[in-house]
Amino acid sequence: MSNGVWNDKKRFIWILSLLLLVAFAVTSGISYQVAHDSLSDQIKENNLPLTSDNIYSEIQQDLLRPIFISSLMAQDTFVRDWTINHEQTPEKLIRYLKEIQDKYGTVTSFFVSEASRKYYHSSGVLKQIEDIAPEDAWYFRVRSLPKHEHYEVNIDTDTADKNRTVIYVNYKVFDFDGNFIGVTGVGLAVESVKRLIELYQARYNRSVYFTDRQGNITLHSELFSGGVSLQVSPGLKTLATRILTSPSTSFSYQKAGETVYLNSRLVPEFKWHLIVEQQEAQGEQKLLTTFWANIGLSLFITLGILVIANMTLGKYQRKLELMASTDKLTGMANRQAFEEYFAKSLAQSVLESTPMSVLLLDIDHFKRVNDSHGHNIGDLVIQSLSQQLKAQLRSDDLLCRWGGEEFLILLPGCSLSQASEVAQKLRKQVEERLLTVNGCEINVTISCGVAECQTSEKTEELINRVDIALYQAKEQGRNRVVLSY
Ligand code: GH3
Ligand code: MG
Ligand code: MG
Repeated sequence: MSNGVWNDKKRFIWILSLLLLVAFAVTSGISYQVAHDSLSDQIKENNLPLTSDNIYSEIQQDLLRPIFISSLMAQDTFVRDWTINHEQTPEKLIRYLKEIQDKYGTVTSFFVSEASRKYYHSSGVLKQIEDIAPEDAWYFRVRSLPKHEHYEVNIDTDTADKNRTVIYVNYKVFDFDGNFIGVTGVGLAVESVKRLIELYQARYNRSVYFTDRQGNITLHSELFSGGVSLQVSPGLKTLATRILTSPSTSFSYQKAGETVYLNSRLVPEFKWHLIVEQQEAQGEQKLLTTFWANIGLSLFITLGILVIANMTLGKYQRKLELMASTDKLTGMANRQAFEEYFAKSLAQSVLESTPMSVLLLDIDHFKRVNDSHGHNIGDLVIQSLSQQLKAQLRSDDLLCRWGGEEFLILLPGCSLSQASEVAQKLRKQVEERLLTVNGCEINVTISCGVAECQTSEKTEELINRVDIALYQAKEQGRNRVVLSY
């Protein structure tokens, strides 16, 4: 195989594999990207807001109830009359608070009077609200709420049971002239709200939590993995403002190398933000698996195509090479193959300082064969003779069809006298053998020139010499061998 052809083939295989790989990678990449984008759009625009809506409305139902109850208490004429009438018979109010607590199933119910600063609870008068006590700061905060804000929702330790955290609804109470006379309300156990969140989480397979307006995370389930506030939650630092300043927002962010989709909305009644998060869906994992399977399949197909291309190319190449170097009629080497082989053998003989000889032989009076038996039979004679000659040669020798019925034989390692012996042997065998072709018995003889390759002799000169020797053999009567010295 010549170097140029081999390089071409190598280049072709490289380009083909590169094209295939690039094509496969690009299509796999694009289809992954498209699927990924539509999946994340689906989550961001559809799934997440929808579940967020569901959770929002369910939580509203559950959490609005205590606000509603507190509002009823604040409007209650009994509470207001009793307060205006200087808080006579505290048992009446205590019984009222107990009724509320029992009837509505809240964990606490209370009233603080502005006039006496007494803290009334379903179980009695618990304490006196103090200006300077930090745990009573909530009262003064509610008292100084802007006029249009009637209540606040606050998470605090239970005044009646310090081991418990309670979600308080603190509602302002006014007398019939609009003067502030106290704060009333009920409380929900944080635990029960947490259970609610857990229920939603389990039902929707999402992470659900609340923050207040400052970003502090107020309510979450036991499994919550974020920080105490949005500002210190991994991945959310720079996004906290966005959540806290918009009534509702939706985006995705990176958390520990994973994409998290987030939907937030303000719950105005609580001034809390409900946040629903979804980890990169299992769908994403499936997409990735498909992507890698695609790549693997592409590699496999590329490899398969390469092997097939390589084999097919190799086969055609060998066929072409054979076609280019052999004679069609006899299947022996042609002139081109002879030249290549001659150059190689010459180099070797120079290297090993061994002799090398050539024989040029031609069938005698071949025109007569054609004339009497026809051209086709003539062809068969040439074929048959070439087989006969070939059978007598060594594997290193090269038999080449030089012209119509002329053969050139290269004998590496043979001196002139050795070549002459070979020539005589061939001549004799041809002479003695009767060729039977298509039922006709044909007898041919050959004439032969012999020459040994001289040091630094050009190929043409050698061929010329052996040609002259052949000519002489013909001249001298044919069926003979003539040496060129
Ligand atoms: P000589 O060599 O003894 O001088 O006489 P010759 O009749 O063989 O003459 P020469 O070698 O000059 O001519 C060869 C003839 O062989 C000429 C041509 O018609 C015939 N010939 C050449 N090639 C082919 C071939 O492929 N097939 C057949 N059938 N005939 C061929
Ligand atoms: Mg002839
Ligand atoms: Mg001839």
